[in-house]
Amino acid sequence: MKNFMKCDRCDNLAAYSRKYSGENFCSSCFSNSIIQKTTRTISKYNMIKRGDIVGVAVSGGKDSLSLLHVLKKISLAHDFKIKAITIDEGIPGYRDEALRIVNEFCSSIDVEHKVYSYKGLFGTTLTENLDLRGDEKISSCSICGILRRRAMDYGSDNLGVDVIATGHNLDDTLQTFIINLLAGDTKKIGWMDPDTSSNDTRKIKPFCEIYENELVFYAFSNNIPFQSEECPHMNEGIRTEIRNFLNSLEKSHSGIKNNMYKSITKISSILRDQDQMEWKICASCGSKCTGEICSVCNTLSNLRSK
Ligand code: SF4
Ligand SMILES: [Zn+2]
Ligand SMILES: [Zn+2]
Repeated sequence: MKNFMKCDRCDNLAAYSRKYSGENFCSSCFSNSIIQKTTRTISKYNMIKRGDIVGVAVSGGKDSLSLLHVLKKISLAHDFKIKAITIDEGIPGYRDEALRIVNEFCSSIDVEHKVYSYKGLFGTTLTENLDLRGDEKISSCSICGILRRRAMDYGSDNLGVDVIATGHNLDDTLQTFIINLLAGDTKKIGWMDPDTSSNDTRKIKPFCEIYENELVFYAFSNNIPFQSEECPHMNEGIRTEIRNFLNSLEKSHSGIKNNMYKSITKISSILRDQDQMEWKICASCGSKCTGEICSVCNTLSNLRSK
């Protein structure tokens, strides 16, 4: 006869085994463990202060919708409010489904939701910009990332939020670290430090200590609807290869991702302390930047001059 495992925290049957810690949970205790872990991360890095309005960046994927769900629960017990922000890049066939899912989910949990589009902010969609590239090898995600950061800054000002929360998980941090390492970009490694105490607009990642597969389980066990369709540009870079490599390592060495995460936070905080940036004002749009012209103006003017 099959031996059913019990939950370590109650009398229910276990539905999830956390391999790296040896814990077994029923669905409800698992969800509580994610909420507790997220609450600990928020307090460890002082991510949210009393009375803050937190703008949650919600793309419609499992991570961001789970983050909205978790932060809504935490906000009810702590003194902060949340609002949802979605960026519409203008990728035909992909973003429309997500916008519908996010809109319905926000209404169901009573969270204000606002959409900001590249077309509305920059006059062109991502797809129109990508068509201008010609032979130059600037990746779709680099252009999209530069525009998204500016769109999020605009959205957070417009909605009057104090801090922006994104659904990036532990796996995302490991992948980004390896991508920056392989590109020789130590500046960006310094920016990965989750300690936000010295930033103007805090950008926080409350799921930065949670494995991606646990967020999939959280979304399923809480019936959170999320977009299944992937962005058509998703597999253009090496992120997917690195993701698969790290997953195969974790499979045979449970907890290796946690160890790597701890090393990354130490390395990035040392690099951040060493590399103090000098801020300037973009001569073209007046945004804060590190050069004479900001990356958004630079990227758009390069594309338009083709
Ligand atoms: S996968 Fe790349 S192009 Fe697609 S939405 Fe994400 S950053 Fe933008
Ligand atoms: Zn239980
Ligand atoms: Zn500019």
